Amino acid sequence: MSPSTPHVSPITHHVIESGSTLGVLGGGQLGAMFTAAAKRLGYRVAVWDPDPDAPALKLADLPLAAPFTDKASLDKFAASIAAATYEWENIPAATVQALEQRVPVRPAPRILQIIQNRLEQKTFLAKHQIAVVPFQAVTSPDQLTVPDAVGFPALCKTVTLGYDGKGQWRLSGPEDVRRVQSELRARSQHRWIVEQFLPFEKELSVLVVRGSDGDRRFYPVAENVHEAGILRTTRVPAAIDPKISGQAAALVGSVIDALDGIGVFCVELFLMKDGRLFVNEVAPRPHNSGHYTLDACSVSQFEQQVRAVCGLPLGEVTLISPAVMVNLIGDDFTKATTDAEIQKFLRQAGAKLHVYGKKSVRPGRKMGHVTFLAARADAAWQSASALRQMFG
Ligand code: ADP
Ligand code: MG
Repeated sequence: MSPSTPHVSPITHHVIESGSTLGVLGGGQLGAMFTAAAKRLGYRVAVWDPDPDAPALKLADLPLAAPFTDKASLDKFAASIAAATYEWENIPAATVQALEQRVPVRPAPRILQIIQNRLEQKTFLAKHQIAVVPFQAVTSPDQLTVPDAVGFPALCKTVTLGYDGKGQWRLSGPEDVRRVQSELRARSQHRWIVEQFLPFEKELSVLVVRGSDGDRRFYPVAENVHEAGILRTTRVPAAIDPKISGQAAALVGSVIDALDGIGVFCVELFLMKDGRLFVNEVAPRPHNSGHYTLDACSVSQFEQQVRAVCGLPLGEVTLISPAVMVNLIGDDFTKATTDAEIQKFLRQAGAKLHVYGKKSVRPGRKMGHVTFLAARADAAWQSASALRQMFG
């Protein structure tokens, strides 16, 4: 889907050829799927992650287990690669900036820096006339108030290092302010924002890839269900009016143009009952809600990441089959691999199991996912929600 004709610049771009080594910062499941895609296209991959058990390190041609602040590791990593990308936004800004002095880093550290801070990100988007949830900066726990422009119920979020709903506090009314203030005092290293808690009708996301020549490709709008702040299911295409899909793609197009980045981006949206759309947040990398592309599209989000990083032509984004993905979170994974009733779902036509190979199961940890493909999205949704019910 393309909200407008993509702008393709006539400049010729440097292509990083197959056989070169690509670097990825972060070795979780996203880094592992990038590594697999890059290797399938004939590249070698250097993976850098502080955790020696990170899944992608096992797949890497050059595994590097060291803190992201380690100078010697930076030198070694930079010396071995032709270009770098990352799988999460919390890589220290100084590390990617130092890396950029040596090799191309895509998306650019300038973009990472905007995105890795919620306050900077939302301020940037608002400045570009992109609809975001009303918010206000909180510079210290004592400063926590909920202004009229935000209103109750509200959410207080850390500006940095939050993920899967972590680092968020709900403020239902004025009586919650003191309680949350004392929780914030216990973590005084952060800054926060308060934002309106939106009674949205649906959560959507749009995955978009932008090449070094300015070509933009939009995957279909996905519909997401979160539980306790963690993505649970993704349905594609979203069960929404096609007019809303068009508006969502246009909105995401304006986000991506404002950022002017090269790579894969995912924009999370809130859809209100009256049809209004708000941007929740932007990820400068492949996204959990795009995992369905591995099985339901000819070119996955990870192959697009490789193509964008290397200056190759971008690939097709058409959906070959409707799909619904269910995350295997914490203990779900143990059940999916041992419970006979649950395994019946995995025997179904169109069911595909992905396991990330993490060493230990922890509550709230994403361990794998199941994608259901079916001729109709409703049928895939039925299988997915029945599987979801099995996990309790
Ligand atoms: P994270 O970085 O943890 O993904 P998000 O801001 O995306 O942080 O929040 C996680 C989830 O919490 C969202 O997907 C949504 O379900 C819920 N959420 C976040 N912000 C709001 C909001 N302003 N109003 C309603 N729900 C929200
Ligand atoms: Mg999010």
